[in-house]
Amino acid sequence: MSISSLKSIQFSEIPIQQRLIQKTLGHISEAVMYMDASHRIVYVNERFQQLTGLQFYDVSGKTPQELTKTKPEFSFYSHMLQTAEKHGYWQSEIWNQHENGQIYLQSVIMMTNKDDAGNIQQYIVVFSKDRDHQLYEKELTADAASSYDTLTSLPNRLLFEKHVMHAIQQPGTSTSLAVVFFQLERFADFNEKYGILFGNMVLKHLAARLNHHFYHRAIFSRWKGTEFACILKDVTNQQEIHASIEVIREKISAPMNIKGFDISLQAKFGVDLYTQGTSVSDFFSNAKAALQQAKKTEEPIVFYRKTMEKSEELFLMEAELRQAIKEKQFELYYQPLICTKDKTLLGFEGLIRWNHPTKGVVPPVAFIPFAEQIGLIGDIGRLVFEKACRQIADWEAAGFDFGKIHVNISMNELHQSQIVEQFAAVLETTKINPDKIGIELTESSTSLNMEDTINKVKALEKLGLSIAIDDFGTGFSSFDYLIDFPIQRIKIDRSFMKALGNNKKISAIVMSIALMGETMGLEVVAEGIETEEQLQQARRLNCNVVQGYLFDRPLPKEVVEEKWFRTV
Ligand code: C2E
Ligand code: CA
Ligand code: CA
Repeated sequence: MSISSLKSIQFSEIPIQQRLIQKTLGHISEAVMYMDASHRIVYVNERFQQLTGLQFYDVSGKTPQELTKTKPEFSFYSHMLQTAEKHGYWQSEIWNQHENGQIYLQSVIMMTNKDDAGNIQQYIVVFSKDRDHQLYEKELTADAASSYDTLTSLPNRLLFEKHVMHAIQQPGTSTSLAVVFFQLERFADFNEKYGILFGNMVLKHLAARLNHHFYHRAIFSRWKGTEFACILKDVTNQQEIHASIEVIREKISAPMNIKGFDISLQAKFGVDLYTQGTSVSDFFSNAKAALQQAKKTEEPIVFYRKTMEKSEELFLMEAELRQAIKEKQFELYYQPLICTKDKTLLGFEGLIRWNHPTKGVVPPVAFIPFAEQIGLIGDIGRLVFEKACRQIADWEAAGFDFGKIHVNISMNELHQSQIVEQFAAVLETTKINPDKIGIELTESSTSLNMEDTINKVKALEKLGLSIAIDDFGTGFSSFDYLIDFPIQRIKIDRSFMKALGNNKKISAIVMSIALMGETMGLEVVAEGIETEEQLQQARRLNCNVVQGYLFDRPLPKEVVEEKWFRTV
């Protein structure tokens, strides 16, 4: 016997098991609905009828699609059916409205029941209001009379605030909730032209239209006069919100015929996307501030800036960086490394610059830390290494005596990419002697897998590359690196060199770093040498190599060739 016959036959005729099922379903606190394979509703239990206010005869034998015309809430089930057919299961939370107008939140599960051949026989829908929702509902109904706007029957400010508060408390809401304030424009014209009663009818009509159309996706409230508010749920980015507001705009501006007059409305919108920790009142005032801004400009939809602008900027930068990698918009500038003893040229440090299509030359501090965060540093590092190797090949071919080129690699770059294989491939294709290229390792801000980093550094050294610890003494683990990594050089950060003369403690630290380097047989490089005095200090400390503006700034390759290779 099929479930479809449950309602149409005498109880005594039903086999015992089904009677039990029916009796149980009749008393559980979850609402249950069955549909047959062709989506016709064949059974609803008592709780369903209580919860929705719909009787069995209202829905029996009908499909959700047919019911949607008169009961918009059923449009939702059509959508659920498609997903459940595909995956066998569907679960979510939806806002619903009782026949008496009360709005409530439900958790809904839809399952399919298949025969042995895998054909769907029934759809089972179970929906419930959990404990919190029941409390929430009680709270809402306690002051139901004072919760709805008398003109439009939309939730008033008080109720709207409760809805927002409740939505914020739901897990995972932090990135999926937006509040929109909108104000109808030139509404006073209607009131003046046709009278206040006419204006009221327009507002009533508009509220019904919005409510009907956005039944499950948004909650509207009449805030005051011609100002409305709305909650959008399950929205994660500006585009999605924009698209939803565009639909609201369409519904507002669609022609309306009131008492034989065709009218059309316009509105301005202010939006804020919820961020964790924001209070409801700040959330509202952000959206209202955005609305005020919209009213002042041509823009119909304005997002609250403080939160949105920043993420938009970063979003843009990420897209631009990806494009820059694709188009290889990077260049290396070369800064000379000088022998402390006789001031001869020992090599260059290659420092990246981004030739941005509109912003011009962008320094590394403006994009390298961001590239590390979003995982693009591996791609950039590969381009840098390739560029340096090609430069070495070119300068060798041209017969320039440039010494060696050192490039920077941040440590988190090491375990993000197939760096060893990639570098080996570049060495192979450019056919340069690995002895000509060195790597300066910088501690990175993001978390590291130290074991992997050590293995990668060892593998790079095996390729024949010399390894330096950059900015020595500024990181957390400088001394560990000395023990764990196969290194040849340490670079004393320029902040130390700068403070040398006037800070005895720093002088002592630098002295011991230099002494330790010397004892361990490492090359010690002092960076940031700007004055003759600093050069003398570096000499006294037995630093082997110096680098800084005293000798030259980082230069584009053409300038290096012009200035350095003619004089060497
Ligand atoms: P760094 O490795 O410590 O590089 C030295 C920085 O100090 C360079 O800044 C250089 O222009 C600057 N500098 C050199 N001599 C002097 C001086 O006498 N006085 C002063 N005030 N500054 C001097 P730049 O080129 O802006 O690079 C900044 C940082 O960006 C580098 O610091 C390095 O950590 C990072 N970086 C540069 N290129 C790359 C790269 O290709 N990959 C990675 N991962 N990081 C890079
Ligand atoms: Ca460096
Ligand atoms: Ca440095």
